[in-house]
Amino acid sequence: MRGLLIVDVQNDFCPGGALAVPEGDAVVSVINQMVEKFDVVVASKDWHPQKSVHFKHWPPHCVQNTRGAEFHPQLKSEAIQQVFLKGTGDKDDGYSAYEATNLDLNEYLKSNRVTDLYVAGLATDYCVKASAIDAARMGFKTFVVTDAVSAVNVKPDDGKRALESMKAAGVTLVDSSQV
Ligand SMILES: [Zn+2]
Repeated sequence: MRGLLIVDVQNDFCPGGALAVPEGDAVVSVINQMVEKFDVVVASKDWHPQKSVHFKHWPPHCVQNTRGAEFHPQLKSEAIQQVFLKGTGDKDDGYSAYEATNLDLNEYLKSNRVTDLYVAGLATDYCVKASAIDAARMGFKTFVVTDAVSAVNVKPDDGKRALESMKAAGVTLVDSSQV
């Protein structure tokens, strides 16, 4: 079975949001065009408490039950079968979707017989990277859809370097036309 993991396509990571990824919203239409090609579609959400050690590194974003934590309004969220909430404690960053606390992502995907996992969303250099590397480590044939991800680029090459480290971890980089 083929699964799609949509990472953190939330208002705060899109232009106008508290921690906007440049052109972060550009991933939305690419993801929307892909969703029906998958047997299983899941998404992660950054879901932080108001106070978190995470906000020592980042401006407050994706606080639980706020507009900033909602999915981008154009995302086809009705296609999402299950949402995984991460970064929910006050002492963790929760970069990887595999750190979700409401449900175990690895177990969910394996019980739905997902063998090939495609990863899309935000941001390439943090949560996409951590999630894709975890997926490869947990035995999924893992793909990152390079035109369906976007980087924060605190340093200009961070996104590029993140893709290289995913590749080194066994992740295959593909274009949405190859999905
Ligand atoms: Zn966060």
